[in-house]
Amino acid sequence: MSSVAQPVILVVARDPRVRAAIVAELERRYAADYGIEQADDDAAAATRIDDIAARGAHLALILADRAGDVDGRSLFARARTRFPDVRRGRLIEWGQWGDAAVRDEILSLMGAGELEYYVIRPWHSPDEYFHRTITEFLLEWERSIGLRPREVAVIGRAGLPRTHELRSLLARGGVPHEWLEPETDAARTRLAAAGVGEVPDRPIVVMLDGRVLRDPGNAELAEAYGLTTSLGDDPSADVVVVGAGPGGLAAGVYAASEGLEVLIVERESIGGQAGSSSLIRNYLGFSRGISGSELAQRAYQQAWVFGARFAHAREAVAMEAGESGFVVHVAPEDAIRCRAIVLATGVSYRRLDVAGLEAFEGAGVYYGASAMEAQWMVGRPVFVIGGGNSAGQAALHLARYAASVTLLVRGSGLAESMSQYLIDQLAAQGVEVRTRVEVVGGGGDGVLERIRLRDRDTGVEVDEACGGCSCSSARRRGPAGFPRASSAIVGGTCSRAPT
Ligand SMILES: Cc1cc2nc3c(=O)[nH]c(=O)nc-3n(C[C@H](O)[C@H](O)[C@H](O)COP(=O)(O)OP(=O)(O)OC[C@H]3O[C@@H](n4cnc5c(N)ncnc54)[C@H](O)[C@@H]3O)c2cc1C
Repeated sequence: MSSVAQPVILVVARDPRVRAAIVAELERRYAADYGIEQADDDAAAATRIDDIAARGAHLALILADRAGDVDGRSLFARARTRFPDVRRGRLIEWGQWGDAAVRDEILSLMGAGELEYYVIRPWHSPDEYFHRTITEFLLEWERSIGLRPREVAVIGRAGLPRTHELRSLLARGGVPHEWLEPETDAARTRLAAAGVGEVPDRPIVVMLDGRVLRDPGNAELAEAYGLTTSLGDDPSADVVVVGAGPGGLAAGVYAASEGLEVLIVERESIGGQAGSSSLIRNYLGFSRGISGSELAQRAYQQAWVFGARFAHAREAVAMEAGESGFVVHVAPEDAIRCRAIVLATGVSYRRLDVAGLEAFEGAGVYYGASAMEAQWMVGRPVFVIGGGNSAGQAALHLARYAASVTLLVRGSGLAESMSQYLIDQLAAQGVEVRTRVEVVGGGGDGVLERIRLRDRDTGVEVDEACGGCSCSSARRRGPAGFPRASSAIVGGTCSRAPT
């Protein structure tokens, strides 16, 4: 039995021998950090879930050999209602993926957003394949819930936009961090240990080694956790890639793997739009899905080990043809010579451009919906603006945490702009979809509390209580001085060695 504070892994299996084998395998590897608990039927499992919540512990992972049914809801749905960050695995026997009924059940549960994935039960001990699956689940859970002390602490007020910006930069850059409200005991302890006596008005970042950054700029923050912002002395490269979203990172990996000297310039954080995606399910090779920031981190490391250089928190502002190639100008006043440029500048979110709402950016109005924004939305009525896949994904992610989620769409439906699997999941998760509607105003006392909606057909306007608003409507926009392009290559073929 676990201690009160220990997070729990719950095993639900009817066959006592199978259950004992799984529990034994989990205890061998995880008992020091997790309570391993078990149940043999749906009712016992439901009671166990309620008990875990009642004693203030967290359910990190539930492994069940069936979806179960308690009061008309599956065990997996019940677990997530109690524990929004829980990971859920459907236990199967080896080879059972060929069983049509099992396959249909798994696909339908995943389609409804009630299951993360299936887990083949251990067949021998130790079963490293089983443990790989479990470890991945636990890593995702820990990243999502952020319970344990982290390398970096951001101490700043929740409603302060700069607090949100700093956290967003760290989260999208894949830097584990904890966030503390300045007036809490935990923040005071952390500040005192770092030698800060006062309660700060502006955000403070405390690094693992005790360094204190007072309201740092983006470049200062990036440098503090070991990223390079400099272009180097007398900078030149074979290829300059502008933008470190998935497109730019892919260009960097392939160019560097061919032995070319590559410099990737990124003005915000690696991953681009993908960095704010909670779960990308349709990227080849990641059958369970992968968070955008994790995908970006892997691509970043891949480019790095091929020797690509990065200039983080730097904006390319112009380019021109030089005598033997091109020159890319990087703000404030650097330049780099190169033989080819890859423009991978992607798209930027369309700003809401609604009087009364812009002031709440970072204080209830967010562009995107990562784990960090979700923390703000816990228990609040939330609106997601947009009809595309990113809006659908944001709505599904926030539905785990918010009291209610309503998707606001200017058009008359989702079918033309959103993938069917997301439309199905929205319906299954009870996300309300309102069509032919637009946001025309909003307000609140320091943080967003309400929004004003206009019916595009009748012109009627209504105010709605709103604890958070995620804007997921993007448009293609190239940077100043550059052609409008998501990914374009400027220059000719770049061979391995200059000729
Ligand atoms: C919430 C969300 C969920 C999504 N989910 C999915 C999904 O499940 N499946 C899927 O296939 N796609 C998904 N997408 C879309 C996917 O993320 C994009 O298609 C992809 O990120 C495009 O990559 P990109 O590199 O072309 O551009 P971007 O990701 O837009 O990256 C462009 C980068 O360039 C940088 N930049 C721009 N101008 C400059 C400049 N002048 N100097 C320096 N840097 C600059 C930006 O800061 C940015 O980092 C999602 C998008 C969002 C927002």
